[in-house]
Amino acid sequence: MNMTKTQSLHKRQSDLAQSNRQLEILSNGIFKNGELPTFKAKIAETNQFPLKAKKLEILQINVGYMCNQVCEHCHVDAGPDRKEIMTRETMQQCLNVIKKTGAHTLDLTGGAPEMNPDFRWFVEEASKAGITDFIVRSNLTIIRANKKYHDLPEFFKKHNIHVVSSMPHWTRGKTDKQRGEGVFDQSIKALQELNAVGYGMPDSKLKLDLVYNPSGAFLPGDQTAMEKDFKKALKEDFNIQFHNLFAITNLPISRFLDYLIASENYEDYMYALVEAYNPAAVANVMCTNTLSVSWDGYLFDCDFNQMLELPVNSKAKHISEYNEALLEGRNIVISQHCYGCTAGAGSSCQGVVA
Ligand code: SF4
Ligand code: SF4
Repeated sequence: MNMTKTQSLHKRQSDLAQSNRQLEILSNGIFKNGELPTFKAKIAETNQFPLKAKKLEILQINVGYMCNQVCEHCHVDAGPDRKEIMTRETMQQCLNVIKKTGAHTLDLTGGAPEMNPDFRWFVEEASKAGITDFIVRSNLTIIRANKKYHDLPEFFKKHNIHVVSSMPHWTRGKTDKQRGEGVFDQSIKALQELNAVGYGMPDSKLKLDLVYNPSGAFLPGDQTAMEKDFKKALKEDFNIQFHNLFAITNLPISRFLDYLIASENYEDYMYALVEAYNPAAVANVMCTNTLSVSWDGYLFDCDFNQMLELPVNSKAKHISEYNEALLEGRNIVISQHCYGCTAGAGSSCQGVVA
């Protein structure tokens, strides 16, 4: 099985590995010459600029960019060659915040968060804080990647983890095209193993949700209809069950931006996003109730801004300086990638928002 289709943009020393290059592309061309309105101008039309953070509800922590996969559209530019990993010291600083914040959801992401050597310690410590919803974003194949990960379903169960996993399609071809050869078969096995310990079963408290993102330069279809199709196909073909499907729009950054440019779809995709702009989605974009923490402890409005190295607009810039009063009401840092969150029914790590 070869799940490593490519190397990260960083490893390839691509221009697009640099966040300022990505931001330049997103600000120039069709946005600079006025063909399309900037995101700022668009939200100002409905008096929604500046976009403001409300009360913190979700703390999303990226524990490292290392991953066993190199998916074509990864906004993190994750892969086995990425060495940025959260240390136990930074995790401890996060734990200090988790214990005192009123956030109801803790969301661990990566890369493959399980590859951080302190992942289990962190989960054990964090689960003691009594968070209502403790999410781990697992890419599924990690459960099958190595013997040392085989017991992850039991580990997740022990700590009542809410597992959220990417599954771009119920067919092998579409999944492997986007996520790498062999990913589909390993994901199916991992889902069956999660089902076997109780995850995703109709009345089970062990939550298993799947994330769909489009395989090309188009917007996701209707989330409810897709969930029905996924449920039917996975049950019939593999006897797999899960709870909810989140449909996520690909944001034009990192490897997806690279894909858009290489396939000459960048301008058409931006046109499609702007055309599908939904002012009703703006009020609920995830940065309004989420804070994103990077592997080295810095604070961002969302995981996308983290990858673009756009830090929070606040005096509190690092998790060690966390201050709820300072962070609440901050102005969110925006650019044209934000159109990805407001297209159609909107998009967030929890699916549609409008
Ligand atoms: S999309 Fe997820 S599984 Fe794929 S390379 Fe990125 S972090 Fe890893
Ligand atoms: S990309 Fe981030 S900052 Fe922009 S609207 Fe989406 S969540 Fe908010």
